[in-house]
Amino acid sequence: MSRVYNFSPGPSALPLPVLEKASEELVEYGASGMSVMEMSHRSKVYDGIIKGAENSLRKLMGIPDNYKVLFVQGGASTQFAAVPLNLFRNKKADFVNTGLWSKKAISEAKKFGTAVVVASSEEAVFNYIPKLDKSKFSADADYFHITLNNTIYGTRFTELPETGEIPLVTDASSCILSEPLDVSKFGVIYAGAQKNIGPAGLTVVIIREDLIGRALPGTPTMLDYKTHAENDSLYNTPPTFAIYIAMLVFEWLEKQGGVEGVGALNREKADLLYAHLDDSKMFSATVSGADRSIMNIPFVTGKEELDAKFVKEAEKAGLVNLKGHRSVGGMRASIYNPMPIEGVRALVEFMKEFERGNG
Ligand SMILES: *Cc1c(COP(=O)(O)O)cnc(C)c1O
Repeated sequence: MSRVYNFSPGPSALPLPVLEKASEELVEYGASGMSVMEMSHRSKVYDGIIKGAENSLRKLMGIPDNYKVLFVQGGASTQFAAVPLNLFRNKKADFVNTGLWSKKAISEAKKFGTAVVVASSEEAVFNYIPKLDKSKFSADADYFHITLNNTIYGTRFTELPETGEIPLVTDASSCILSEPLDVSKFGVIYAGAQKNIGPAGLTVVIIREDLIGRALPGTPTMLDYKTHAENDSLYNTPPTFAIYIAMLVFEWLEKQGGVEGVGALNREKADLLYAHLDDSKMFSATVSGADRSIMNIPFVTGKEELDAKFVKEAEKAGLVNLKGHRSVGGMRASIYNPMPIEGVRALVEFMKEFERGNG
């Protein structure tokens, strides 16, 4: 077997023990006589899986009892529309524009009402999180939206905006479960699973109960949070296999010491790479200071041909998917929970070697 170190931004690497367990159970799950993929989502066995996944997630994130956990489909991109459809009253929301995913959330909200951009870092290719001026917040906003971790640009919020009574909504697709997060500060947290939870196809929505049941007239049934909340995410067929893998990932996370344990390791991994980037004469990080993401780390040499050569040679050395997003260029190392510290060490060693050979 020759598994590589996979630095993909998503879908991304899964923990090897999870893949091994899934492969052991692929043909027959427990004593059910069938694969998880073949069983009814309303069977007793499957009930254990979906409830198990939810309970594990609740425990890991410390989700308060007055929050529902919904397992839905359509990715974070569908939530860009679901959030305004469910939360709009005055049909107005505030947004911080910190990148492509923020912009998409803004443009979907605009279809149903007013999206106010209270701050943006677009003028600097989103390489920082803008300082927020509370006097610019809309007093009549139905919610305040932030992208907690910016997958493409490598920034993250380290301080949450104080929005008072206005629900704070966040797209946490690329940082959910990467470190402790106070769920009670949010009205809605949503995340596509394919970065830090499990396979593509599953989307997790964590929502405060009082925000459910007030969708705009005309909201499609499948986009109404009430539909999924009232039916324990079993209104229709959920992504059954993806939820099963998510359950295994959550169990694996518990064994890593939960979000505290994995969070400490994530910080160590990120520190290791940033320390080298700050030290290197060839490579530099595109983000500086406190806003640096601990999940997605973009870096450049400053020369396009050299970047391309690096990506190509890294791949030959078993360090794959390091090409940066086209809007930033260069490289990006996505180091989600399953990336072991050995993978980051191997990357740093390879960078040193490359610098010696090409300096
Ligand atoms: C990947 C990503 C998305 C898109 O998610 P889909 O599940 O593909 O719709 C949205 N937001 C963030 C922050 C992401 O990283």
